[in-house]
This record gives sequence, structure tokens and C-alpha cells, in this order.
Amino acid sequence: MAKKKVLFVTSEAAPFVKTGGLGDVAGSLPEAMREKGHDVRVVLPEYSQLNSTYKSQLEHVTHFRTNITWRNEYVGVNKLEHNGVPFYFIDNKKYFDRSNLYDNPDRHLQFILFMRGALEMLSEIDFKPDIIHCNDWQTGLIPLLLKDNYKRYNFYRDMKTVFTIHNLRYQGIFGPEIVSDSLGVDPAHFYDGNIRHDGLVNFMKAGIMYGDKITTVSNTYASEIKTPYFGEGLDYALRMRGDDLEGIVNGISFDENDPASDKEIFANFDASNFQGKAKNRRALQSFLGLEINPDKRILSIITRLVEQKGIDLIKHVSEEIVNTGLQFVVLGTGNPEYEDFFRDLSNRYPDQVAAEIKYDFTLAKRIYASSDFFLMPSQFEPCGLGQLFAMRYGTVPIVRETGGLKDTVEPYQDGEGSGFTFKEYNAHKMLNAIEAAADLASNPKELESLQKNIMKRDFSWDKSAEKYLDLYDDIIVDEKPEISIVDKKETKEIKKAKEIKKAKEIKEEKKAKTTSRDDSDLEKVNINLADSTELEKVKGIGPAYARRIIAYRDENGDFSELDELLNVDGIGPARLESIKPGIDL
Ligand code: ADP
Repeated sequence: MAKKKVLFVTSEAAPFVKTGGLGDVAGSLPEAMREKGHDVRVVLPEYSQLNSTYKSQLEHVTHFRTNITWRNEYVGVNKLEHNGVPFYFIDNKKYFDRSNLYDNPDRHLQFILFMRGALEMLSEIDFKPDIIHCNDWQTGLIPLLLKDNYKRYNFYRDMKTVFTIHNLRYQGIFGPEIVSDSLGVDPAHFYDGNIRHDGLVNFMKAGIMYGDKITTVSNTYASEIKTPYFGEGLDYALRMRGDDLEGIVNGISFDENDPASDKEIFANFDASNFQGKAKNRRALQSFLGLEINPDKRILSIITRLVEQKGIDLIKHVSEEIVNTGLQFVVLGTGNPEYEDFFRDLSNRYPDQVAAEIKYDFTLAKRIYASSDFFLMPSQFEPCGLGQLFAMRYGTVPIVRETGGLKDTVEPYQDGEGSGFTFKEYNAHKMLNAIEAAADLASNPKELESLQKNIMKRDFSWDKSAEKYLDLYDDIIVDEKPEISIVDKKETKEIKKAKEIKKAKEIKEEKKAKTTSRDDSDLEKVNINLADSTELEKVKGIGPAYARRIIAYRDENGDFSELDELLNVDGIGPARLESIKPGIDL
């Protein structure tokens, strides 16, 4: 695989600033791709919330001015390296020195400045990525800005974009007045509907319509968001881009989250040395003022306290949860009504319920390590990282079967599986799952065996990082097949000669196909027999698709009809039509 250059553009990244899962992803995926030899760099805003330890490590790289239509604004670029990954910070005090990251009335200006700064920084620092990987609405205009403004310059011409949806609910919606006031793109993009939804400017929709590829963070969520129930109003746009939409499940950093070496938790442990788990539980009981009792098991939640996370289900059966005898630990902030509810529950059951209404990274790790069960009854969940951290620390997830929760937690039955699950968004279905977990707690041996098993599951970035790299390849392969197979080390002349030869071959192949029907039939490859080299020769199948077709064949046996290819990851109706002339059964 050719080495790629990637700019990962994000509004947050751990450990610098994080409100949720996007921060975890931006803090760990780039590192995983760099470990595979690619030049991946990250850019994010330099918020005043960046803690002083990191602030003092920043090195000033450059500064320039950019335009947000009639405004001319300062853009500073500062940099630090973390775990081998270069992180660039876009500095402008007027826009990023705020008490709140996202809820500001001028947030469109904050992020337009960020997006323009990130793009213009590239030519200033002479970093020319093959791929600009954008994430969520705060970066959604980048594909369009590139197309409309920057691709007219040679430096930007070949850059491709991937737009990843981490949560479709947050879309970056603004009044139409910002079209002329701040966007700085041709108003036609608004009037033709591509960046408009319900009469308003929608940054998420812009990313969906203009990204070269769209991804979201699990397979199930990728299917769900094409339906009205999960589509948050944009399901039609996602169906339109269905051929270019793929689900790639999130991973977590196994190095930074290792119970065997983690310095934040009370005691280290692993699957072969498990006594530490009980030490953590005891220490957390003491730390939170719960009854200190080795027979009491802990059920926890760590989350933003918002409707999405299924808090209403918990409210509905909170007394019954207390009655299971499990201790209940809540760490979260958000909706004041939910915050008050948990405070009140903990005041009523001080020995059994602890409500920590705050954002606390260290306490979060301690809770993952000390609990026996971790609850995520989400209404919808693009991927969810809590359940992955929980399993890494030997804590059994209890989840609703939706989005990434469905893809990462296997129902536990007869000693097989990884957690307790329920399907319907219903408080009593959730309660049944919690009660089944409490039953398991009365059989400590079986519980311990499950806890040790889930610690051995691999939720590191390794496989998913590979999938992103394959996807990057597809964009390059799809549009420039002749260049993708050229060895980057070759001299320009050889490269050019090969390109001309390849182009001639393609031309001749096309000519042969149109002039002789029989000949073209002879050239078809058999989809059940072809190896990857043969498959790669088919128009519309690059190395990544060839690999996926073979993997699908290995798993499911021969294709019985060509339309079965639609089941292969990433192949949609349009791609199938382009592949069909080159294959048969
Ligand atoms: P989302 O991105 O929707 O918030 P995820 O499960 O993908 O949900 O990611 C949530 C991340 O934020 C996890 O790393 C979780 O541990 C962390 N988190 C959520 N609330 C808190 C909190 N109050 N304190 C510390 N970490 C938190």
C-alpha cells in the first residue's frame, strides 16, 4: 500500500480537549495510522480550555490572515507532537477564547475560520495531503470550500475528502442570511439545495453532499441513518450518497487504556492477574462513600446526560434498579433535569447510589476499572465508546441493540457472548437485562470468567485503521487507476511512460469491447474463481474492493447471482452497474 499523507480535521481531540467520542477518536486513530507508516497530522482549534501543560509545549509555526467574506481575520498556527503525531492548533483569541466550545451564537464564524485556517495552513507549511479527513458539522464545509475556492490553485487540486459522521443529531444549522454574510461560496449551492435543509444552511448536509466518501462509525448506524427514524431529517441525502457511504467501527487506544499499566486507576490488573479488579471496586466504594462490601457489585454509567443516552428509561425504573441490590454509580453532566434526578436518587440511597455530576477524566477511568457492569441504554448510538472502555477494563456492558452497541456487544448466553442486551426502547426490557446481570453477580465464578473473557477481545484501532486506509485508496484508485499502481519511488519519466502505456491499454480494451461482443465476453472475470489480481483488473474494483469481495466469498461461499455483490461492504447499486460489464459467474 502506497504511503499516504492525511490531514485529520477535528473540533476536538483527547487529551487536549474532549467532550465525547469524537475527541477519543481524533486522539487515537491518527496515531494508529501513523504506526502503519503514513504521514497523518491533526488540526484543531486552540481553545482557551487547552490546559497549561500542553499550552507551554506549543511551538509557533506561522500566522497569516484569512477572509470570512468581508471580515479579515488573524490565523495563528501552533504545533506540538503527541505520541509521535503532529497536532496543529488554529489560534484566534476572538473566536476560541470562550467559556463554551460549541454553543456560541457565532459558532458558524468560529468554525468557518477554523476550516479556512486549516486549509490555508497547508500551503503555508507545505504539507500537501492526499486526503483531508473531515469530522462532523464543524468541518462539513471543507469539501465545498475546496471545490469552490481552493482547487483553483495547483497545490490543492488533487486533494480528496472523507467526511465522517460521528453523530448525525448535531448538524450545524444556520439561517439563510449567512449565505452572503459568511460562507464565501457560490450561493447556488444553497439555492440548488445541496447545503440547504428545511430552508436553512446545514453544514452536516454540505459534508454529506460534497465529501468524496462519507463514513460513519459503525455498520449498523450506517444502515440506520438511511431511514427516517434515525436519519435526523437527512436520510434522503444519505440515501442519495448511499454508494459512497460506509460504516467503519471505532476502536480505542489499547496503550492508553490498559488496566495492566494505567496509572490513573486504583490498582492494576489483567485477565491472568485479576485480584486487582476487586481492589479497584473496594477503593471506589470508599472514594464515593458507598457501602464498602465485597459482595456488592457496581453498575455504572458515564455519559453526557442527554435524551439520546436513554436516561428516561433509567428514570422510569430507578427504584427497581436500586432493588436489584447492585450499587449504582453515575458520572455525567448535561440536562439539569437529569442532573437533579441523579443527585436526588443518590441523596435518598447514599450507601447504594453515587451521583458525580461533573466531567472528570480520571474518575471515568476509575469507574470503568472498578465496576462490574456498564449501562448504555441509548435511543441511538453511532458507535459508543463507553462499552469498549468498559470491556477493556473487564466490566460487562448492558446495552440496547442499536448502532455501534449492536456491532460491538454480543448477547451473553450459555457462557458465550460479551454482555447483556435488549432490543426495544423500553424501560422494562432494559430492567430485565439489568436483572439478568444482577443474577449473574450472584454467581461470582461465572461473572469473573465473563469479565476475563471480554478483556481479551480486540477493540484496538488496528483493523479499523486499515479500513480507513483502504477507503483512502479507493478514492485514489477510483479516479486515477493508472497512478495508483505506480511505485512512488520510480522516476518521473518511468512513471509518465507507464501512465501513457496504461492509458493506451485502457483505450484499446474499451475499443475491443465495443467492437466485438464475443471478445468482451471472453475478457470477463469469473467472480467466484478470480483471485485478487484478476479482480483488480475489472473496472470499478480496486485492491480494497477485491479484498472485500474475496473476504465475503470466503465467509459466505460462491456468489449465486451478481446482485449478491450488493452485500459486500461499500458496493452499492451504482458501483455494481459499473462492475457488471467486467464480471460473470
Ligand atoms: P458520545 O460521543 O455520544 O458522548 P461515546 O460513548 O462515543 O459517546 O463517548 C463518550 C466519551 O466521553 C467516553 O470516552 C466517556 O468516557 C467520556 N465521558 C462522557 N461523560 C464523561 C464525564 N462526565 N466525565 C469523564 N468522561 C466522560
